[in-house]
Amino acid sequence: MTTSIWRKTMRLGVQSCEVAIVGAGICGLSAAAEFGRRGLRAVVVDRDSPGSGASGRNAGFLMRGAADNYRAACEQYGRALAGTLWRVSEQNLAMLRAAGVERLPSFSWRPSCLVAFTEEEREQLRQSAKLLIEDGFDVGQVGCSTADTPQDSLWQGPLAKERGAMGLVNPGDACCNPVELIGLLRSRCQCPVLEGQEVVSLRRSNGSIDVQLTDGVLRADRVLLATNAYAGLLVQSLSSIVLPRRGQMLALRAEGRSLSMNYYANHGSEYFREGYGGTLVFGGCRKRFAETEVGYEDRVTPEVQLAIEAFARSVLGADRLDVVARWSGVMGFSPDGLPLVGSLGDTEGWDGRVWFCGGFTGHGMSLAHKTATMTVEEMLGGAPTPFPLSRVM
Ligand SMILES: Cc1cc2nc3c(=O)[nH]c(=O)nc-3n(C[C@H](O)[C@H](O)[C@H](O)COP(=O)(O)OP(=O)(O)OC[C@H]3O[C@@H](n4cnc5c(N)ncnc54)[C@H](O)[C@@H]3O)c2cc1C
Repeated sequence: MTTSIWRKTMRLGVQSCEVAIVGAGICGLSAAAEFGRRGLRAVVVDRDSPGSGASGRNAGFLMRGAADNYRAACEQYGRALAGTLWRVSEQNLAMLRAAGVERLPSFSWRPSCLVAFTEEEREQLRQSAKLLIEDGFDVGQVGCSTADTPQDSLWQGPLAKERGAMGLVNPGDACCNPVELIGLLRSRCQCPVLEGQEVVSLRRSNGSIDVQLTDGVLRADRVLLATNAYAGLLVQSLSSIVLPRRGQMLALRAEGRSLSMNYYANHGSEYFREGYGGTLVFGGCRKRFAETEVGYEDRVTPEVQLAIEAFARSVLGADRLDVVARWSGVMGFSPDGLPLVGSLGDTEGWDGRVWFCGGFTGHGMSLAHKTATMTVEEMLGGAPTPFPLSRVM
């Protein structure tokens, strides 16, 4: 792309603010609205435009929980923390609802379903349902032999022939077009959003932090890095704990096919749902290509796209697919799958002024709004979030 003379000679000079937020995805925009609500002057900066990162490229699942099922989470994190994570995702949706997400044209309340294709995963889902009920969560189960078998192309198609097929249902989940969600979050920020400004360095300057942009400097009392996957490019110490992982998706036209829920399969590795205008969207298959689906490059690859197509054919029982769009996005994975929130003070000598919030590990639609709000609270001296960065740093 060429660059105009206007862009080359634009100078923002040195601007002061109370908080500089780097990154205008769900996380950064949610934090900006919360700082504004608390009366602080924030400025958001993005090297591209709002939602240009993973926030505008995801599957749009507003889903309770995390990557794998509740039983797996209880085993990995302990039951109390797993319960907290599930509650945070419920609160995330409740907060988005209060912010007006239901008014988005694309929004729909739609249960999500973790569907198991193996006996091992079925058993985990049965145990998850039991644990969820014990912990006070609303949960349902569907199977192909019950009266409430979903009326859609999965359950009436390939799964109809599979004995014992079952799914765990989160009844209160929803979905939307993530680009519309970004528009909503952007409209709630009562602060400037500087687009096309890359933050190239952060430097301590007397009592504040100088955030060096492409065309100027933001002098801020505090900085929140909401750069997610790209954090390690800016702050070296984050490069080993915020791991860039590519996710790929496709959309296909699907005359006569329908999906009554938002689906998660193979321990969350694959996901699919109805899109808009008669489309279905499918994504995932990255685990089979774990060595190549890393790094910062936004690019679709034939291998992963073919794998997603094969998966879509098996789900729909279809021979041919009419693919209408293919895309990718870069997610920030944390070492343990939980978000990362904390001050970088000790490691970078920034005296508690520079914070990070991210590492949503493919679940920022479901976690980032609430987590960003909790981060602001902690930055301003309130209660700590349940996801301290210090556990991995
Ligand atoms: C294919 C795919 C499917 C997904 N599906 C789902 C889903 O269905 N449900 C779900 O919950 N989650 C899903 N996710 C994950 C979700 O999209 C992310 O967790 C979430 O968007 C992260 O939001 P964020 O604001 O932290 O990061 P991002 O949206 O990535 O925002 C980071 C921003 O920082 C900016 N930036 C980076 N470096 C700099 C710099 N140096 N200077 C200035 N700006 C900078 C970038 O331009 C970007 O806009 C999916 C992700 C992908 C890729």
